[in-house]
Amino acid sequence: FAERLEEAWKKLRGQDKISEANIQDALKEVRRALLTADVNLQVVKQFIADVEEKAMGAEVIAGVRPDQQFIKIVNDELVAIMGESNVPLAHADQPPTVVLMAGLQGTGKTTASAKLALHLRKLNRSSLLVATDIYRPAAIDQLKTLGEQIDVPVFEMGTDADPVEIARQGVERAKAEGIDTVIVDTAGRLQIDTDMMAELARIKETIQPHDTLLVVDAMTGQEAATLTRTFDEEIGISGAILTKLDGDSRGGAALSVRRISGAPIKFVGMGEKVEALQPFYPDRMASRILGMGDVLSLVEKAAEQVDLADAEKMQEKILSAQFDFNDFLKQTRLMKSMGSLGGIMKLIPGMGKQISDEDLQKGETQLKRSEAMIGSMTVEERTNPDVLSSSPSRRRRVAKGSGFEESDVTKLVSDFKKMRSLMQQMGQGNLPGMGGGGMP
Ligand code: GDP
Ligand code: MG
Repeated sequence: FAERLEEAWKKLRGQDKISEANIQDALKEVRRALLTADVNLQVVKQFIADVEEKAMGAEVIAGVRPDQQFIKIVNDELVAIMGESNVPLAHADQPPTVVLMAGLQGTGKTTASAKLALHLRKLNRSSLLVATDIYRPAAIDQLKTLGEQIDVPVFEMGTDADPVEIARQGVERAKAEGIDTVIVDTAGRLQIDTDMMAELARIKETIQPHDTLLVVDAMTGQEAATLTRTFDEEIGISGAILTKLDGDSRGGAALSVRRISGAPIKFVGMGEKVEALQPFYPDRMASRILGMGDVLSLVEKAAEQVDLADAEKMQEKILSAQFDFNDFLKQTRLMKSMGSLGGIMKLIPGMGKQISDEDLQKGETQLKRSEAMIGSMTVEERTNPDVLSSSPSRRRRVAKGSGFEESDVTKLVSDFKKMRSLMQQMGQGNLPGMGGGGMP
């Protein structure tokens, strides 16, 4: 019991710090979550090492387990890395804005090109789609069909022209016609391929895009890292679109892409339809990658409701022997506002496992009884429990008022005093090796 109280007491004082030892399990959990989300292994290792270093020594919020708080720190760091806010598509001072789409075959470049054009329309920006994928005749038709669907012009020169020339003329056309943005769709290959890279580099060199977007299929997994590195090194990217997030991928590629290229994810593809494009929200992606919404909301709840200043005042009171039934009630209500007693007990390291559900239920019943009895006390009795010890008639009145026996009130008062003196001794750094006692 003394150990448990000491733990609880530490929490109350907020003196627990995040340490190597108390976040071991959380570290493992985060590592597993990131790997399951298909974040690249190297990226995971580096990220965890960084966050661990950052978190070490942080004060633990009262009522929150260090490991859970660590997970919150991880989440915040994920959000920070992926960009605090959404980064929009480039918009050149002098139109046209030139956007180059890059990526492997089948990732969704052509679809994303049309999606972008539709997105721009909503911002009152006109666009021209340019078809440079001459290797598959169907690719040009695909873009033309999409263009018709959203009523956006498509520039193409058939399958015999040079992709670089198509791109160059496409931009010229947009300039001549006063179109706001040119979106150049390109050919991909199933794998990274030197011819593809060389062609992309030449197109880029020629049209000098304001935004070069790497289109990454969210299902790419671990490979996303190598892919991003290659594209970034060979052609240079300024942003990315993560597609097929409507699937069950946890989206770990987002972290890999950002970490490796430094380029922001600008949009996410959420389906095959042209409307299915959304701005990228780092916080949503962080929760998705971690897949731990419950833990996060718990940590947030605790951070919200536990007023550190209040906890400090409480601590002073306890130290100066002023802790009374009013404080006890406050403390109880605070615990309740955070959830059931059981929930709170389980938050305290080492405590959850030792306490059976039966014990917890007893504890909750006991707390309710105590509350009822305190409710029947006068202000004087609450502030100075000693007057109850010396007056049987007061105890009888409280018992009657709350529907309990006089002996229950006697026990409440004596337990309370025991607890108070124990807390005072602990506050002064004396930790008596005692058993017995018990929360009122
Ligand atoms: P490209 O080869 O890179 O141009 O890829 P496409 O644009 O032709 O897309 C390849 C396939 O993926 C097509 O069947 C698209 O309908 C599909 N696709 C593209 N984006 C998404 C998306 O965000 N979600 C889903 N579910 N499918 C997508
Ligand atoms: Mg295509």
